Amino acid sequence: RCGYVAIVGRPNVGKSTLLNHILGQKLAITSRKPQTTRHTLLGIKTEDNVQAIYVDTPGLHKDAEKALNRFMNRSASQVLRDVDVVLFVVDRTRWTDEDEMVWNKVRHLECPVLLVVNKVDRLEDKTELLPHLEWLAGQLPNAEIVPVSALHGGNIERLEQLVAERL
Ligand code: GDP
Ligand code: MG
Repeated sequence: RCGYVAIVGRPNVGKSTLLNHILGQKLAITSRKPQTTRHTLLGIKTEDNVQAIYVDTPGLHKDAEKALNRFMNRSASQVLRDVDVVLFVVDRTRWTDEDEMVWNKVRHLECPVLLVVNKVDRLEDKTELLPHLEWLAGQLPNAEIVPVSALHGGNIERLEQLVAERL
């Protein structure tokens, strides 16, 4: 099995951290500053019978007035034209206008979308997560929801397994 997996989401949700964890190396620069990833990056993960080509994208930005944001939005949108699986990364508790914008870009794609709820390690009270996941499931009925911690590797194996099943 082989295919392209796009990692999309608003800036700073942990897309590059996720890619690095999956690859086991620091390919993409990660930072607390938004806009660290300005180009799309490819990372290839080859295992026994699965080859997944992950594509880290610059975050999709709301403010398309700025030329840099426009450039980054364009490269992220181009990736979506030809992918097999989309990882739509969001934050553990927050859903913003920018998430909504990303969702509007991916919701009509024919390929499967996995909604990756990242940074769950930062939840002090894990029970906070459940209502948020339920709310997301109501909003995005066609997306499979996978809570993870990209930074600490929580549930990433499960995520990779779900990806492999969809390639
Ligand atoms: P990107 O803009 O979506 O590529 O986000 P980055 O991967 O650059 O990460 C943005 C910030 O969030 C960095 O400071 C990361 O260390 C942090 N971060 C990413 N994933 C996690 C996570 O699972 N848990 C925590 N606590 N921080 C994370
Ligand atoms: Mg990045």
